[in-house]
Amino acid sequence: MDSKTIGILGGGQLGRMLLESANRLNVKTIILEQGNNSPAKQISNSTEHIDGSFNNPKDIEKLASKCDVLTVEIEHVDVNTLFSLTEKFPNLKIYPSPNTIKLIQDKYLQKKHLIDNNIDVIESLAVESSDSQTLSRIGESIGYPYMLKSRTLAYDGRGNFVVKSKDDIDNALQFLSDRPLYAEKWCPFVKELAVMVVRSSNGDIFSYPTVETVHEDNICHLVYAPARIPDSIQLKAKLLAENAIQTFTGAGIFGVEMFYLSSGDLYINEIAPRPHNSGHYTIDACVTSQFEAHLRSILDLPMPKYFTSLETSMTNAIMLNVIGDKGVKDKELETCKRALETPNASVYLYGKESKPKRKVGHIVMVSSSMEDCERKLNYILGNSSKLSI
Ligand code: ATP
Ligand code: MG
Ligand code: MG
Repeated sequence: MDSKTIGILGGGQLGRMLLESANRLNVKTIILEQGNNSPAKQISNSTEHIDGSFNNPKDIEKLASKCDVLTVEIEHVDVNTLFSLTEKFPNLKIYPSPNTIKLIQDKYLQKKHLIDNNIDVIESLAVESSDSQTLSRIGESIGYPYMLKSRTLAYDGRGNFVVKSKDDIDNALQFLSDRPLYAEKWCPFVKELAVMVVRSSNGDIFSYPTVETVHEDNICHLVYAPARIPDSIQLKAKLLAENAIQTFTGAGIFGVEMFYLSSGDLYINEIAPRPHNSGHYTIDACVTSQFEAHLRSILDLPMPKYFTSLETSMTNAIMLNVIGDKGVKDKELETCKRALETPNASVYLYGKESKPKRKVGHIVMVSSSMEDCERKLNYILGNSSKLSI
Protein backbone atom coordinates (compact mmCIF):
# COMPACT_ATOMS: atom_id res chain seq x y z
CA MET A 1 0.00 0.00 0.00
CA ASP A 2 2.77 2.40 0.81
CA SER A 3 6.52 2.41 0.40
CA LYS A 4 7.20 4.54 3.45
CA THR A 5 8.58 3.11 6.68
CA ILE A 6 7.00 4.27 9.94
CA GLY A 7 9.04 4.48 13.14
CA ILE A 8 7.00 4.23 16.34
CA LEU A 9 8.27 5.61 19.65
CA GLY A 10 6.89 3.15 22.19
CA GLY A 11 5.93 -0.49 21.84
CA GLY A 12 3.05 -1.05 24.25
CA GLN A 13 -0.50 -2.12 23.43
CA LEU A 14 -1.24 0.98 21.35
CA GLY A 15 1.84 0.22 19.26
CA ARG A 16 0.72 -3.39 19.00
CA MET A 17 -2.67 -2.42 17.60
CA LEU A 18 -1.10 0.18 15.26
CA LEU A 19 1.09 -2.62 13.94
CA GLU A 20 -1.92 -4.86 13.31
CA SER A 21 -3.39 -2.15 11.09
CA ALA A 22 -0.05 -1.47 9.42
CA ASN A 23 0.44 -5.17 8.67
CA ARG A 24 -2.96 -5.29 6.96
CA LEU A 25 -2.06 -2.31 4.76
CA ASN A 26 1.40 -3.77 4.12
CA VAL A 27 3.13 -0.77 5.69
CA LYS A 28 6.55 -1.37 7.23
CA THR A 29 7.02 -0.38 10.88
CA ILE A 30 10.00 -0.19 13.24
CA ILE A 31 9.47 0.01 16.99
CA LEU A 32 11.67 1.81 19.51
CA GLU A 33 11.16 0.27 22.96
CA GLN A 34 13.28 -1.33 25.69
CA GLY A 35 13.83 -5.06 25.31
CA ASN A 36 12.75 -7.37 22.54
CA ASN A 37 9.48 -8.63 23.93
CA SER A 38 7.24 -5.58 24.27
CA PRO A 39 3.56 -6.00 23.21
CA ALA A 40 4.21 -4.46 19.77
CA LYS A 41 7.48 -6.27 19.06
CA GLN A 42 5.86 -9.63 19.90
CA ILE A 43 3.57 -9.51 16.88
CA SER A 44 5.90 -8.03 14.30
CA ASN A 45 7.99 -9.94 11.81
CA SER A 46 10.40 -7.04 11.34
CA THR A 47 13.95 -7.72 12.46
CA GLU A 48 14.90 -4.05 12.53
CA HIS A 49 13.33 -3.00 15.85
CA ILE A 50 15.45 -0.92 18.15
CA ASP A 51 16.12 -1.98 21.71
CA GLY A 52 16.31 1.40 23.38
CA SER A 53 14.43 4.25 24.98
CA PHE A 54 12.14 6.92 23.52
CA ASN A 55 13.85 9.23 26.00
CA ASN A 56 17.37 8.61 24.71
CA PRO A 57 18.45 11.03 21.93
CA LYS A 58 20.81 8.48 20.32
CA ASP A 59 18.13 5.79 20.15
CA ILE A 60 15.60 8.22 18.67
CA GLU A 61 18.14 9.31 16.04
CA LYS A 62 18.88 5.70 15.17
CA LEU A 63 15.17 5.13 14.61
CA ALA A 64 14.86 8.33 12.55
CA SER A 65 17.71 7.25 10.28
CA LYS A 66 15.72 4.16 9.24
CA CYS A 67 12.31 5.80 8.69
CA ASP A 68 10.32 8.18 6.51
CA VAL A 69 7.71 9.03 9.15
CA LEU A 70 8.02 9.04 12.93
CA THR A 71 5.03 8.74 15.22
CA VAL A 72 4.38 8.03 18.90
CA GLU A 73 2.16 5.70 20.88
CA ILE A 74 2.96 7.63 24.06
CA GLU A 75 3.41 11.38 24.60
CA HIS A 76 6.09 11.08 27.30
CA VAL A 77 9.00 11.08 24.83
CA ASP A 78 12.11 13.26 24.55
CA VAL A 79 10.51 16.03 22.50
CA ASN A 80 13.65 18.19 22.29
CA THR A 81 15.34 15.46 20.28
CA LEU A 82 12.31 15.33 17.97
CA PHE A 83 12.71 19.10 17.33
CA SER A 84 16.40 18.61 16.50
CA LEU A 85 15.69 15.84 13.95
CA THR A 86 14.20 18.24 11.41
CA GLU A 87 17.66 19.65 10.67
CA LYS A 88 19.43 16.30 10.52
CA PHE A 89 16.75 14.53 8.49
CA PRO A 90 15.08 17.18 6.30
CA ASN A 91 12.80 14.65 4.56
CA LEU A 92 11.58 13.06 7.78
CA LYS A 93 7.96 13.69 8.74
CA ILE A 94 7.09 13.71 12.44
CA TYR A 95 3.43 13.27 13.39
CA PRO A 96 2.04 14.49 15.71
CA SER A 97 4.25 17.55 15.34
CA PRO A 98 6.88 18.10 18.06
CA ASN A 99 5.07 21.35 18.93
CA THR A 100 1.85 19.45 19.57
CA ILE A 101 3.64 16.81 21.68
CA LYS A 102 5.41 19.52 23.69
CA LEU A 103 2.17 21.35 24.45
CA ILE A 104 0.28 18.21 25.37
CA GLN A 105 2.92 16.36 27.42
CA ASP A 106 2.81 19.13 30.05
CA LYS A 107 -0.83 19.03 31.18
CA TYR A 108 -0.72 22.60 32.49
CA LEU A 109 0.74 24.00 29.21
CA GLN A 110 -1.98 22.01 27.45
CA LYS A 111 -4.67 23.69 29.59
CA LYS A 112 -3.20 27.15 28.98
CA HIS A 113 -3.08 26.49 25.24
CA LEU A 114 -6.76 25.48 25.24
CA ILE A 115 -7.78 28.50 27.34
CA ASP A 116 -5.83 30.83 25.00
CA ASN A 117 -7.85 29.35 22.14
CA ASN A 118 -11.21 29.83 23.89
CA ILE A 119 -11.78 26.10 24.41
CA ASP A 120 -13.75 25.30 27.58
CA VAL A 121 -11.67 23.63 30.31
CA ILE A 122 -11.99 23.43 34.09
CA GLU A 123 -10.34 26.31 35.95
CA SER A 124 -6.67 25.44 36.50
CA LEU A 125 -3.93 27.15 38.47
CA ALA A 126 -0.17 26.83 38.27
CA VAL A 127 1.48 25.67 41.51
CA GLU A 128 4.47 27.99 41.58
CA SER A 129 6.11 26.29 44.55
CA SER A 130 5.20 22.97 46.12
CA ASP A 131 4.65 23.96 49.74
CA SER A 132 1.71 23.88 52.10
CA GLN A 133 1.15 27.67 52.14
CA THR A 134 0.81 27.75 48.34
CA LEU A 135 -1.54 24.77 48.34
CA SER A 136 -3.74 26.19 51.07
CA ARG A 137 -3.92 29.53 49.19
CA ILE A 138 -5.09 27.54 46.17
CA GLY A 139 -7.73 25.81 48.31
CA GLU A 140 -9.01 29.21 49.43
CA SER A 141 -9.14 30.37 45.84
CA ILE A 142 -10.79 27.40 44.02
CA GLY A 143 -12.36 25.68 47.05
CA TYR A 144 -12.15 22.12 48.43
CA PRO A 145 -12.08 19.43 47.27
CA TYR A 146 -9.70 20.22 44.44
CA MET A 147 -7.54 18.04 42.22
CA LEU A 148 -3.78 18.34 42.48
CA LYS A 149 -2.12 16.96 39.36
CA SER A 150 1.36 16.25 38.13
CA ARG A 151 2.01 18.34 35.01
CA THR A 152 4.05 15.57 33.40
CA LEU A 153 4.30 11.78 33.06
CA ALA A 154 0.74 11.17 34.24
CA TYR A 155 -1.37 8.14 33.33
CA ASP A 156 -4.23 6.13 34.88
CA GLY A 157 -4.62 8.85 37.52
CA ARG A 158 -1.22 8.00 39.03
CA GLY A 159 -0.22 11.68 39.04
CA ASN A 160 -3.46 12.90 40.69
CA PHE A 161 -4.34 13.59 44.31
CA VAL A 162 -7.73 14.74 45.58
CA VAL A 163 -7.18 17.45 48.19
CA LYS A 164 -10.38 17.16 50.22
CA SER A 165 -9.46 19.74 52.84
CA LYS A 166 -6.53 21.67 54.25
CA ASP A 167 -5.64 18.58 56.33
CA ASP A 168 -4.82 16.62 53.15
CA ILE A 169 -2.14 19.00 51.93
CA ASP A 170 0.83 17.30 53.61
CA ASN A 171 -0.20 13.89 52.27
CA ALA A 172 -0.68 15.38 48.80
CA LEU A 173 2.81 16.88 48.85
CA GLN A 174 4.26 13.59 50.00
CA PHE A 175 2.39 11.61 47.33
CA LEU A 176 3.37 13.93 44.48
CA SER A 177 6.79 14.89 45.82
CA ASP A 178 9.36 16.21 43.34
CA ARG A 179 6.88 16.41 40.50
CA PRO A 180 5.92 19.70 38.79
CA LEU A 181 2.32 20.37 39.83
CA TYR A 182 -0.82 22.29 38.92
CA ALA A 183 -4.24 22.43 40.53
CA GLU A 184 -7.70 21.99 39.06
CA LYS A 185 -11.06 23.02 40.41
CA TRP A 186 -13.19 19.99 41.29
CA CYS A 187 -15.57 19.09 38.48
CA PRO A 188 -18.94 17.63 39.57
CA PHE A 189 -19.53 15.80 36.29
CA VAL A 190 -22.45 13.45 35.65
CA LYS A 191 -20.58 11.55 32.94
CA GLU A 192 -17.18 11.46 31.32
CA LEU A 193 -17.19 11.56 27.52
CA ALA A 194 -14.51 11.13 24.86
CA VAL A 195 -14.22 11.79 21.16
CA MET A 196 -11.54 10.48 18.80
CA VAL A 197 -10.56 13.08 16.22
CA VAL A 198 -8.20 12.53 13.31
CA ARG A 199 -6.41 15.38 11.59
CA SER A 200 -4.95 14.93 8.13
CA SER A 201 -1.72 16.70 7.18
CA ASN A 202 -3.68 19.31 5.20
CA GLY A 203 -5.71 20.14 8.30
CA ASP A 204 -8.96 18.28 7.45
CA ILE A 205 -10.69 16.98 10.55
CA PHE A 206 -12.70 13.75 10.91
CA SER A 207 -14.27 12.65 14.15
CA TYR A 208 -15.80 9.52 15.60
CA PRO A 209 -19.00 9.54 17.66
CA THR A 210 -18.97 10.71 21.25
CA VAL A 211 -18.50 7.84 23.68
CA GLU A 212 -19.01 7.52 27.42
CA THR A 213 -16.12 6.39 29.62
CA VAL A 214 -16.59 4.93 33.09
CA HIS A 215 -13.58 5.01 35.42
CA GLU A 216 -12.87 2.92 38.50
CA ASP A 217 -9.93 3.87 40.75
CA ASN A 218 -9.01 6.50 38.10
CA ILE A 219 -8.58 3.77 35.46
CA CYS A 220 -10.87 3.54 32.46
CA HIS A 221 -13.05 0.49 33.06
CA LEU A 222 -15.83 0.67 30.46
CA VAL A 223 -16.62 2.58 27.28
CA TYR A 224 -20.15 2.87 25.89
CA ALA A 225 -20.27 3.74 22.19
CA PRO A 226 -22.18 5.82 21.39
CA ALA A 227 -22.56 7.64 24.71
CA ARG A 228 -25.98 7.33 26.39
CA ILE A 229 -26.65 11.08 26.21
CA PRO A 230 -29.08 13.36 24.32
CA ASP A 231 -28.30 13.89 20.60
CA SER A 232 -27.67 17.58 21.22
CA ILE A 233 -24.86 16.75 23.70
CA GLN A 234 -23.45 14.11 21.35
CA LEU A 235 -23.06 16.81 18.70
CA LYS A 236 -21.86 19.50 21.09
CA ALA A 237 -19.11 17.17 22.34
CA LYS A 238 -17.99 16.37 18.80
CA LEU A 239 -17.81 20.06 17.92
CA LEU A 240 -15.89 20.88 21.10
CA ALA A 241 -13.40 18.10 20.35
CA GLU A 242 -13.01 19.12 16.70
CA ASN A 243 -12.51 22.78 17.66
CA ALA A 244 -9.87 21.77 20.18
CA ILE A 245 -7.94 19.67 17.66
CA GLN A 246 -8.07 22.50 15.08
CA THR A 247 -5.80 24.45 17.43
CA PHE A 248 -2.92 21.95 17.10
CA THR A 249 -0.56 21.41 14.20
CA GLY A 250 0.41 18.20 12.43
CA ALA A 251 -1.43 15.05 11.40
CA GLY A 252 -2.62 12.11 13.45
CA ILE A 253 -5.31 10.81 15.76
CA PHE A 254 -6.19 12.47 19.08
CA GLY A 255 -8.28 11.30 22.03
CA VAL A 256 -10.25 14.13 23.62
CA GLU A 257 -11.51 13.44 27.17
CA MET A 258 -14.26 15.65 28.59
CA PHE A 259 -16.61 16.17 31.51
CA TYR A 260 -20.39 16.46 31.03
CA LEU A 261 -22.20 18.42 33.74
CA SER A 262 -25.89 18.30 34.67
CA SER A 263 -26.21 21.88 33.35
CA GLY A 264 -25.39 20.51 29.88
CA ASP A 265 -21.97 22.22 29.96
CA LEU A 266 -18.95 20.36 28.62
CA TYR A 267 -15.33 20.90 29.64
CA ILE A 268 -12.27 19.26 28.16
CA ASN A 269 -10.32 17.25 30.74
CA GLU A 270 -7.29 16.36 28.65
CA ILE A 271 -6.14 15.45 25.17
CA ALA A 272 -3.93 12.54 24.08
CA PRO A 273 -1.99 13.01 20.80
CA ARG A 274 -2.25 9.33 19.84
CA PRO A 275 -4.67 6.39 19.75
CA HIS A 276 -6.64 6.25 22.98
CA ASN A 277 -8.25 3.61 25.18
CA SER A 278 -11.69 5.13 24.56
CA GLY A 279 -11.25 4.43 20.83
CA HIS A 280 -10.44 0.71 20.97
CA TYR A 281 -14.08 -0.11 20.17
CA THR A 282 -13.53 1.34 16.66
CA ILE A 283 -11.69 -1.84 15.60
CA ASP A 284 -14.92 -3.82 15.95
CA ALA A 285 -17.64 -1.20 15.52
CA CYS A 286 -16.34 1.11 12.77
CA VAL A 287 -15.11 0.28 9.28
CA THR A 288 -11.97 2.39 9.79
CA SER A 289 -10.42 1.85 13.22
CA GLN A 290 -8.66 4.61 15.15
CA PHE A 291 -5.36 2.85 14.40
CA GLU A 292 -5.93 2.70 10.66
CA ALA A 293 -7.18 6.30 10.65
CA HIS A 294 -3.93 7.35 12.35
CA LEU A 295 -1.82 5.51 9.78
CA ARG A 296 -3.80 6.92 6.87
CA SER A 297 -3.42 10.46 8.19
CA ILE A 298 0.33 10.30 8.83
CA LEU A 299 1.00 8.57 5.48
CA ASP A 300 -1.20 10.97 3.49
CA LEU A 301 -3.39 8.07 2.40
CA PRO A 302 -7.03 8.78 1.48
CA MET A 303 -9.75 9.10 4.10
CA PRO A 304 -13.34 8.06 3.26
CA LYS A 305 -14.41 10.44 0.50
CA TYR A 306 -17.99 11.37 1.19
CA PHE A 307 -18.16 11.54 4.95
CA THR A 308 -16.76 14.17 7.22
CA SER A 309 -17.65 11.89 10.09
CA LEU A 310 -16.45 8.34 10.58
CA GLU A 311 -19.54 7.36 12.55
CA THR A 312 -21.79 6.35 9.68
CA SER A 313 -20.65 2.77 9.77
CA MET A 314 -20.94 2.35 13.50
CA THR A 315 -23.07 -0.04 15.52
CA ASN A 316 -23.53 -0.11 19.32
CA ALA A 317 -20.55 -1.27 21.31
CA ILE A 318 -19.27 -1.64 24.86
CA MET A 319 -15.58 -1.99 25.62
CA LEU A 320 -14.43 -3.55 28.87
CA ASN A 321 -10.81 -3.21 29.90
CA VAL A 322 -9.17 -6.39 31.18
CA ILE A 323 -7.30 -5.20 34.26
CA GLY A 324 -4.86 -7.25 36.34
CA ASP A 325 -6.70 -8.71 39.36
CA LYS A 326 -5.73 -7.18 42.70
CA GLY A 327 -5.66 -10.53 44.53
CA VAL A 328 -5.02 -13.54 42.29
CA LYS A 329 -2.61 -13.32 39.34
CA ASP A 330 -4.29 -13.96 35.95
CA LYS A 331 -7.76 -14.21 37.53
CA GLU A 332 -8.94 -11.67 34.95
CA LEU A 333 -8.57 -14.35 32.27
CA GLU A 334 -11.80 -15.91 33.58
CA THR A 335 -13.56 -12.82 32.25
CA CYS A 336 -11.87 -13.37 28.88
CA LYS A 337 -13.07 -16.99 28.77
CA ARG A 338 -16.69 -15.90 29.32
CA ALA A 339 -16.16 -13.33 26.54
CA LEU A 340 -15.05 -16.11 24.19
CA GLU A 341 -18.40 -17.83 24.85
CA THR A 342 -20.27 -14.63 23.99
CA PRO A 343 -21.47 -14.07 20.41
CA ASN A 344 -20.17 -10.84 18.85
CA ALA A 345 -17.54 -10.26 21.51
CA SER A 346 -13.82 -9.98 20.73
CA VAL A 347 -10.96 -10.47 23.14
CA TYR A 348 -7.68 -8.58 22.77
CA LEU A 349 -4.77 -9.56 25.01
CA TYR A 350 -1.64 -7.45 24.92
CA GLY A 351 1.03 -10.00 25.88
CA LYS A 352 1.72 -8.23 29.17
CA GLU A 353 2.37 -9.91 32.49
CA SER A 354 -0.62 -9.65 34.81
CA LYS A 355 -0.06 -7.15 37.63
CA PRO A 356 -2.66 -5.57 39.93
CA LYS A 357 -4.42 -2.61 38.22
CA ARG A 358 -2.44 -3.06 35.00
CA LYS A 359 -4.33 -2.97 31.69
CA VAL A 360 -3.53 -6.34 30.13
CA GLY A 361 -6.22 -6.46 27.44
CA HIS A 362 -9.71 -5.41 26.47
CA ILE A 363 -12.97 -6.95 25.29
CA VAL A 364 -15.41 -5.39 22.83
CA MET A 365 -19.02 -6.49 22.40
CA VAL A 366 -21.10 -5.18 19.51
CA SER A 367 -24.81 -5.41 18.76
CA SER A 368 -27.64 -3.59 17.01
CA SER A 369 -28.90 -2.48 20.46
CA MET A 370 -27.16 -1.16 23.55
CA GLU A 371 -29.45 -3.34 25.74
CA ASP A 372 -28.03 -6.42 24.05
CA CYS A 373 -24.47 -5.13 24.57
CA GLU A 374 -25.32 -4.69 28.26
CA ARG A 375 -26.67 -8.24 28.45
CA LYS A 376 -23.41 -9.53 26.99
CA LEU A 377 -21.44 -7.39 29.43
CA ASN A 378 -23.33 -8.80 32.42
CA TYR A 379 -22.61 -12.32 31.25
CA ILE A 380 -18.92 -11.55 30.69
CA LEU A 381 -18.63 -9.93 34.13
CA GLY A 382 -20.16 -13.05 35.68
CA ASN A 383 -23.20 -11.12 36.95
CA SER A 384 -25.74 -13.08 34.92
CA SER A 385 -25.96 -16.49 33.26
CA LYS A 386 -28.35 -15.20 30.57
CA LEU A 387 -26.97 -14.38 27.14
CA SER A 388 -30.16 -14.39 25.09
CA ILE A 389 -33.40 -12.44 25.46
P1 ATP B 1 -5.20 9.02 31.69
O1 ATP B 1 -4.91 7.58 31.95
O2 ATP B 1 -6.60 9.27 31.14
O3 ATP B 1 -4.14 9.73 30.91
P2 ATP B 1 -4.43 10.81 33.83
O4 ATP B 1 -3.51 10.20 34.81
O5 ATP B 1 -3.84 11.76 32.82
O6 ATP B 1 -5.28 9.67 33.15
P3 ATP B 1 -6.76 12.51 34.33
O7 ATP B 1 -7.41 12.14 33.05
O8 ATP B 1 -6.33 13.92 34.50
O9 ATP B 1 -5.53 11.55 34.70
O10 ATP B 1 -7.72 12.13 35.54
C1 ATP B 1 -8.12 10.79 35.79
C2 ATP B 1 -9.57 10.77 36.24
O11 ATP B 1 -9.71 11.53 37.44
C3 ATP B 1 -10.53 11.44 35.26
O12 ATP B 1 -10.89 10.56 34.21
C4 ATP B 1 -11.68 11.77 36.19
O13 ATP B 1 -12.45 10.63 36.51
C5 ATP B 1 -10.95 12.23 37.46
N1 ATP B 1 -10.71 13.70 37.42
C6 ATP B 1 -9.68 14.32 36.81
N2 ATP B 1 -9.73 15.66 36.96
C7 ATP B 1 -10.83 15.91 37.71
C8 ATP B 1 -11.42 17.10 38.23
N3 ATP B 1 -10.89 18.32 38.00
N4 ATP B 1 -12.57 16.97 38.96
C9 ATP B 1 -13.10 15.74 39.21
N5 ATP B 1 -12.57 14.58 38.77
C10 ATP B 1 -11.45 14.65 38.02
MG1 MG C 1 -3.65 11.59 30.82
MG1 MG D 1 -7.35 11.08 31.44
